[in-house]
Amino acid sequence: MSEELFPVPGEWAASAKINASAYDERYARSISDPEGFWREESQRIDWIKPWETLKDVSYNEADFRIGWFMGGKLNICANALDRHLETRGDTPAIIWEPDHPDTPGRTLTYRDLHTEVCTFANVLKANGVNKGDRVTIYLPMVPEAAIAMLACARIGAVHSVVFAGFSPDALAGRIEDCQSNIVITADEGLRGGKKVPLKANVDAALEKTPADTVIVYRHTGGSVGFVEGRDVWWHDAAANASPECAAEAMDAEDPLFILYTSGSTGKPKGVMHTTGGYAVWTSMTHEYVFDYRPGQVYWCAADVGWVTGHSYVVYAPLINGATQVMFEGVPNYPDVSRFWNVVDKHKVEIFYAAPTALRALMREGDDWVTKTDRSSLRLLGSVGEPINPEAWDWYHRVVGERRCPIVDTWWQTETGGAMITPLPGATDLKPGSASKPMFGVQPALVDPEKGTLLKGAASGALVITDSWPGQMRTVYGDHDRFFQTYFSQYPGYYFTGDGCRRDEDGYYWITGRIDDVINVSGHRMGTAEVESALVEHPLVSEAAVVGMPHDVKGQGIYAYVTTNAGTEDSEELRKELVQWVRKEIGPIATPDVVQFAPGLPKTRSGKIMRRILRKIAENDTGNLGDTSTLADPGVVDDLLANRPRT
Ligand code: ATP
Ligand code: MG
Repeated sequence: MSEELFPVPGEWAASAKINASAYDERYARSISDPEGFWREESQRIDWIKPWETLKDVSYNEADFRIGWFMGGKLNICANALDRHLETRGDTPAIIWEPDHPDTPGRTLTYRDLHTEVCTFANVLKANGVNKGDRVTIYLPMVPEAAIAMLACARIGAVHSVVFAGFSPDALAGRIEDCQSNIVITADEGLRGGKKVPLKANVDAALEKTPADTVIVYRHTGGSVGFVEGRDVWWHDAAANASPECAAEAMDAEDPLFILYTSGSTGKPKGVMHTTGGYAVWTSMTHEYVFDYRPGQVYWCAADVGWVTGHSYVVYAPLINGATQVMFEGVPNYPDVSRFWNVVDKHKVEIFYAAPTALRALMREGDDWVTKTDRSSLRLLGSVGEPINPEAWDWYHRVVGERRCPIVDTWWQTETGGAMITPLPGATDLKPGSASKPMFGVQPALVDPEKGTLLKGAASGALVITDSWPGQMRTVYGDHDRFFQTYFSQYPGYYFTGDGCRRDEDGYYWITGRIDDVINVSGHRMGTAEVESALVEHPLVSEAAVVGMPHDVKGQGIYAYVTTNAGTEDSEELRKELVQWVRKEIGPIATPDVVQFAPGLPKTRSGKIMRRILRKIAENDTGNLGDTSTLADPGVVDDLLANRPRT
């Protein structure tokens, strides 16, 4: 891994809200005086009633509970909208950029958004939605997705957003799990020029698990089925609704939303977040990580169907009075300059995206980037996976022209907001490292087997030793699963599931999920390392590596390899790849099996589902578990049919 250091650019050190010494000072205070630190930080939120007790937390099984800002009352929607009306009512809140550049976009000011949200909140009420009810939202990246979420928050309903790329089965499972009686959708979605039959998917899902009401937003105008008595057009209902709606006073610990994790490690969990802590945590992290000041144009390219879209498209930017781009499309349509054309069109200053998109664009060559202007960019962000140093370098050098710091933010659906991340004016960057903890976050490494705390430079399982305001509060409907999943392995700590290395400078390097570490003849190695070696071979486009039982070595190495288009997957190439890895890493990393795979099983968020690859490698193919979140389930059949005989 690269250990090159990129110091904080001078102008950032001088002008950023948090410079290096401010970071040290505030971090220390957040740990030594949490009461004082959070009393100050919580002032960023307008409280209807001030909180009384900062936190009420126990990670012990007997009295397990997590609560923050106890006794406080607030409404997060009023914080995102109402309080801006006087100062920036006519400022754009959302600049919507459609799938195709020739389609007219939309700009909603804070006042527009407020009117739309209040109106839709009344639509929800008129359709029987009460405080505490769960509302399923299955919408594409249109402003109505944010409007629907904020309308729920306004009246205290709990939204469960389901990514609009999920199948009817996956949707049905999520509707059923949270017992929601209402689904909000659109006629069709549009991504990369392709229509997604959202309403038809809802109809199919509701055959398995019925709901009372479906509200349909007309987006493409495509024809859809309509069930009288159940289905309602958004525009019809809105035409009859008042644009005035008081915001409900919510308890700090009232649920705000449920979001099912992407499922790369098992049955999706209904991650539940509450109101007060989430509001403070997301808005604080957004302000510091992006050094955000109102007036700057900010663009987080994540879908609202993921937690990044919840925290850093909908809630935090609006609470902070931001002007943001919301993008319906994909990075490679109509061509692979699309991101950078959108940056130029709207003069985006802060851009936040996932490594999977960056790697895909990197493969297409630099010209698509360099022919665009991008002079408005000043800060770049990354989230979702470890960003490999090669992609980091490309992002920094080609996209950001060495001018823009990169904030590589490590966090999870479960953590609500960024936990380990550089701050652009404070942190010298090391490509591939998420660097240092956010205020109030106490990361630690434990020995995965013994559970003992590791000091200094070390590698182990990443845990967080105490609570932070944006921590999830439960797995919806299964509090015991919450405890068992995150708090039972290493008593007293929140277990992230990720492996991590801490270097001599105290920088954290996320190495991937702890399950992805294999132990070959007593040598522990991260699968990511073997994968990187394979991908460096000129004929390999992608690789996924898992462990397999091995009589002698304990665990052997099973590699799934996707070769470039037009490559013949021959026996010679297989042997060559085995030798290649031996040469790149050493004999200990020699793959025992190489299976050529035209496709790898991926979640819709683009992450490889190693759990399934592990089962195939272990020859345990009877029960592959939940595959409903796979982007293309057909890939699995192909892998099963083409297992090499070993
Ligand atoms: P599931 O929990 O259902 O298996 P998931 O973990 O992919 O799905 P998310 O909560 O969206 O769902 O992703 C969080 C995970 O993504 C982290 O635990 C980590 O493995 C990875 N991750 C996110 N950001 C980074 C980052 N900046 N660097 C390294 N890894 C990251
Ligand atoms: Mg996870």
